[in-house]
Amino acid sequence: MSTATPPLRHETTAGNYFVANYPPFAFWKPEFVPEFLSALERPPSTLNSQLSTPLGLYTHIPFCRKRCHFCYFKVYTDKDSSEVRGYLDALLKELTVYAGKPAIGGRKLKFIYFGGGTPSYLSPDQLKFLTDGMKRLLPWDEAEEVTFEAEPGTLTDHKLKAIRDLGVTRLSLGIEHFDDHILEINGRAHRSKEIARAYAYAREIGFPQINIDLIAGMVEETEDKWRETVAKAVELRPDSVTIYQMEVPFNTGIYHQMKADGKLVAPVADWETKRAWVDYAYREFEKIGYTVTSGTTVVRDPAKVKFIYREGLFGGADILSIGVASFGHLSGVHYQNHHEFAPYVDAVNAGKLPVYRALTPSADERYLREFMLQLKLGSVSAEKFTKKFGRDPREQFAAPLATLKEWGFLTNGGDRINVTREGLLQIDRLLHEFFKPEHKTGRYA
Ligand code: SF4
Repeated sequence: MSTATPPLRHETTAGNYFVANYPPFAFWKPEFVPEFLSALERPPSTLNSQLSTPLGLYTHIPFCRKRCHFCYFKVYTDKDSSEVRGYLDALLKELTVYAGKPAIGGRKLKFIYFGGGTPSYLSPDQLKFLTDGMKRLLPWDEAEEVTFEAEPGTLTDHKLKAIRDLGVTRLSLGIEHFDDHILEINGRAHRSKEIARAYAYAREIGFPQINIDLIAGMVEETEDKWRETVAKAVELRPDSVTIYQMEVPFNTGIYHQMKADGKLVAPVADWETKRAWVDYAYREFEKIGYTVTSGTTVVRDPAKVKFIYREGLFGGADILSIGVASFGHLSGVHYQNHHEFAPYVDAVNAGKLPVYRALTPSADERYLREFMLQLKLGSVSAEKFTKKFGRDPREQFAAPLATLKEWGFLTNGGDRINVTREGLLQIDRLLHEFFKPEHKTGRYA
């Protein structure tokens, strides 16, 4: 039942805010893994009778120099070079098994993404070893995009050249903030000097695209410091900027400290302030001609800068994910690998796929997933969805769409369903209005 005003959440309390997938991960189960394994034995699925499903590859590198206090990813800061080498061997063994399956073998990759953790933690030699092996198993010659996440303090000139020479088209720099005190107090390993050096050299050697990541609302953030950070980001003129609002999931250092101190509210800005800060950043970038292309992204030239990985993830592409804790989607089945290093490596070394849990979404859930994820881009075409799924989203999702409209977060004119700026700044929490009743548990991870 809708009300004229949305339920508000002011303070930042512990929990996940970001909607990355659907149905929520809590519903993916070990007992569904056999469904995933059988799907791999079938030929690849198609989007429709004419179009084959695009295939992308996500590779998870779980190593970091230091664990940031807000980090909720599976990362390791204590692995020596032989363990890193063992992990790279495991990635290649895992990929070898997939390359021999009917669902994958012989297909060309459309996009590749190195995430983590810190992919740039690896040395140039380790990177070459890994990517040469990957290319032998699944060719990159038709890949339209290769994205590589990097932590500025790990980037020497030599490593930047090596990364570019792998064929990376988008370098994604995890800057998060430009103020050294904020970086330090939040446990980041890099400082502003390293950002300046890495960015300048990456530009000089001609990466096709550079993205920078920022976080609004880190511990001890102030209005003035945020404005200075935005000004510095504007000065760099990156091809795109991704801005996240600080969330405090349960497995972060910040939450552990809150628990020890008996606090329920995280020591970071409230949600209204964080939204206002992101809005400020958007407006500063719009003044110099950038375009807001999602709830988290501004882009310098939308005609040139594409996000093929995001398009694939949001549009039902097959995403083969390898590495500890990584999650993917193949032939209609969601899956996730083992969360811990040893079970992951041991499973691969025993010749098994290291899949820990899976879920086959129903046709309705696939529709819902794709519609919700695309709403994060701010505007969807009803006709496009009707054509693909055979049902008009304006009818299919009439109730939640009416609720969001009543709250002032949606406008629809003809074919387009548009999210207002205010709606876009809080889109992840609004998406819970679309969840099926059995998935509205408040448990997301
Ligand atoms: S660099 Fe990124 S992945 Fe590594 S600890 Fe920090 S937030 Fe987590």
